[in-house]
Amino acid sequence: MRSRFKPWAADLLDNHPEIVIPDPEQQKGKWNEVFGNNQPLHIEAGTGKGRFIIGMAKANPDINYIGIELFDSVIVTALETVLEQENGVPNLRLLKVNAKKIADYFEKGEVDRLYLNFSDPWPKTRHAKRRLTHESFLKLYEAVLPKKGEIHFKTDNRKLFEYSLTSISEYGMLLKEVSLDLHDNEPEWNIMTEYEEKFSKKGQPIYRMEAQFSG
Ligand code: SAM
Repeated sequence: MRSRFKPWAADLLDNHPEIVIPDPEQQKGKWNEVFGNNQPLHIEAGTGKGRFIIGMAKANPDINYIGIELFDSVIVTALETVLEQENGVPNLRLLKVNAKKIADYFEKGEVDRLYLNFSDPWPKTRHAKRRLTHESFLKLYEAVLPKKGEIHFKTDNRKLFEYSLTSISEYGMLLKEVSLDLHDNEPEWNIMTEYEEKFSKKGQPIYRMEAQFSG
């Protein structure tokens, strides 16, 4: 998700260190202090404009959430939405970083669940290593999740979904749930992302899986 260049975005992000954590390496092993509680921590890699992670945080105040996004021009919309909320979103923080550095920011077992939603498909084979479900990323997620930690993944992209089923199975993970059409009888707990709304409105099926690392 690329947005129009927003020259003011960097300043707005820098002006809200209470939400967009400026030094995540310094918080490694100490995220419970950042949130001021010992609630479980769920993160989303590639959070985009934040609709999902903000919705999850508001729906589940007893869980802490962190949204990770690469681009200022995109994550700034998530920040603006948080700032618009009357009482803020106390159980949510944002990180403007690359998910490939995730193990620099979290200790093993510090993250209880990882969400990947509508990750960039990188269709060319030579770019497979950039897919967020490539083996090299699974290794990083394993380094921050506990034993039997889970990844929950949604996409509209059938080829990425098939690739991810293979990559995750070959890594030795257990596929706990697989849906080939999430919106056919959509579960009441589902919170839509921006991309999910866009693609489901066009009538495209949404694929979803829950996968668990081995113990
Ligand atoms: N999750 C959102 C949704 O479902 O609406 C956004 C989906 S968009 C297709 C993918 C997002 O992932 C983009 O905003 C992109 O900048 C971000 N992204 C891709 N690779 C990333 C990485 N390595 N680290 C952090 N963010 C990444």
